[in-house]
Amino acid sequence: MRFSLTALFTLATLASGVSLAAPPAAPTAPSADDLRLGALRLTGVRDAAFKAPNDGSIFQAPGGPAAVTALLKAPGLSTDVIPLSVDGLLVRGIPGHVVLIDTGNGAKKGGVLAASLAAAGVSPAQITDILITHSHGDHVGGLVGTDGKPTFPRATIRMTAPEWAYMRSQEDVKPIAAAIQGQVKTFAPGAAVLHGITAVALRGHTPGHSGYRIVSRGQSLLDIGDTAHSSVISLARPDWTIQFDNNKSLARQTRISELRQLARSRQLIFAPHFPFPGFGRVVARAGGYAWAAAAR
Ligand SMILES: [Zn+2]
Repeated sequence: MRFSLTALFTLATLASGVSLAAPPAAPTAPSADDLRLGALRLTGVRDAAFKAPNDGSIFQAPGGPAAVTALLKAPGLSTDVIPLSVDGLLVRGIPGHVVLIDTGNGAKKGGVLAASLAAAGVSPAQITDILITHSHGDHVGGLVGTDGKPTFPRATIRMTAPEWAYMRSQEDVKPIAAAIQGQVKTFAPGAAVLHGITAVALRGHTPGHSGYRIVSRGQSLLDIGDTAHSSVISLARPDWTIQFDNNKSLARQTRISELRQLARSRQLIFAPHFPFPGFGRVVARAGGYAWAAAAR
């Protein structure tokens, strides 16, 4: 997803899951929320909350905004906007590594990821590896500070080779690419990236869009990146295209097949744009799918 941060979080977001916990304290307040995975400590770190307008500009439902409204209405959500969270995933417990997957919008655009990392007890200098799902601004914006300089001085920044080529070609993120180029290490789509973390090619959103499968002691979690954006709309209607997808038909195909597989396998996932902290499972419901947030 690419957007500028303009909006505040509302309680409406909280109604968007099948089983959600108590509301977070404040709109876009820095937040860090833990989940155990085998020997690993995973932490959802919040950066921002965004309300996408329900005007047909983002979710391209064949029935137009009215069809989106019908989906939002069913769980009692506000129908004029589509709430989307922006979160990163911190991974601790891999010996010698402190890993962050995606970095949010960045401080320049009002992102609070740095404060959320602090709340999790991690300083930018402690991060050894940053894994990027893709190079849209709401995932790579936090790689630099308000001064345009790298935020994570010691980190190796990893992304697929096609994504790095794409990032360097995009006007809006070119300055970020220039600032971090000495820290970047690319890999082939689907490669093993770190001990316990393997990339998963999720084609269509951007040229090198990648999920990450994290495994520890027989447990696993998949960071799905931007395979799905709204925990309500993308799951109920994975066949609807979305403006943020570069290759819309390929992304649609990926979304349909991935969601089917995730629901079948009951795979635990992290979704950076689902209601914070983004941990849960996709479950089959009424011809589509619904979101079941992980028990907190
Ligand atoms: Zn996004």
